[in-house]
Amino acid sequence: MDKETQPPAADPHPRHHAVPPYLLVSMAACDGAWEAPAAMRDFIAQPPAEGDRGLPGEPAGAGSETRRRIATRARRTLLLDQALLHERATTHTDIARLLDPAGHLVRVISDARGAETTPGTTVRTEGQDPGQDENSNRAYDGLGEVYEFLADMFKRSSLDGAGLVLRGTVHYGQHYDNAFWDGTQMVMGDGDGEVFNSFTSSLSVIAHELGHGLLQYTTNLDYRGQSGALNESIADVFGALVEQFVAGDDAASASWLIGKGLFTNAVQGVALRSMAAPGTAYDDPILGKDPQPATMAGYVDTAADNGGVHLNSGIPNHAFYLFATALGGNAWETAGSLWFNVIATRSLPQDADFGTFAEQTLLQARRDHGAGSAVERALAEAWDAVGVEPVIQEAVHG
Ligand SMILES: [Zn+2]
Repeated sequence: MDKETQPPAADPHPRHHAVPPYLLVSMAACDGAWEAPAAMRDFIAQPPAEGDRGLPGEPAGAGSETRRRIATRARRTLLLDQALLHERATTHTDIARLLDPAGHLVRVISDARGAETTPGTTVRTEGQDPGQDENSNRAYDGLGEVYEFLADMFKRSSLDGAGLVLRGTVHYGQHYDNAFWDGTQMVMGDGDGEVFNSFTSSLSVIAHELGHGLLQYTTNLDYRGQSGALNESIADVFGALVEQFVAGDDAASASWLIGKGLFTNAVQGVALRSMAAPGTAYDDPILGKDPQPATMAGYVDTAADNGGVHLNSGIPNHAFYLFATALGGNAWETAGSLWFNVIATRSLPQDADFGTFAEQTLLQARRDHGAGSAVERALAEAWDAVGVEPVIQEAVHG
């Protein structure tokens, strides 16, 4: 997870590698300051089976209190994020968007200085030189890279297409194991140092959170069940593509990991999620094994995690990976544009399931590349490989 174990693949911005997007649960949650939804509380209440057995070599049940505490917190972090995000988004709905004339990048970085309040004290605004704090600098750079990606690839001015000021708060909370989009800005914790490093250290995590912002301004897929898993998956696709774009990695050479470098060296894992091989990102005595399925055969039917939004997102993630690697070249070009066009044209109902989304991507492939094109065929094969059958459904959009 540290730089030595990352692919040498010439990332010109190595400090931006690390964090996956949906790890958004706070230390405060462990202290009861944050109230999880009922279904989530039940899930959290279950003891972490893997963590309880102790570390390798220890007898079953030898897990210490400390280990249980870490495992519980880590499990929450792995599964929660958006529940928190949506609660906050609701309370922040009325915060005015600060618009700049379209076409200009404007960033504002604030420092919460360990408090759980946003935005905190402004520490850097657009055009100012880097400061001493690496977290602030990485957040500033990451927001700029997301902006550049949208402008270069999709001719879009910021997340809303109208120059939305990109805001980020760093040093949120104490040892906060989370990062989230609160409906108006990105918020990054420092991590606990035991399981998670600072959340600003991964560009794919920064871009994933902003991907939720992009969805908010395009097709705001309902955050539960299959539409929620699509919301998570599209945020992952966005996170991976921004990272690949910045690193100059084509589809064949990219890691397809989300949150590479997020885990400390104490964790047996490479990232939060793997789009190339969902279910293989980590396998650790404390965290357990990455639970993501790659195909519908492994679909997780659960009430927890808003209906498994961070679990079943592995299925559309893997379809995108198969599609992009079958096409070859840069994934953000043909494959990424197609995904973007589907959400930007708002051709999906907000409660779209996997089959409806698959059908819309195939329709978009015909629009973009013609019926029967190699692109359409590769896409159909990718959906088939993960067991998703395209469903024709009337698109309804308000
Ligand atoms: Zn997310």
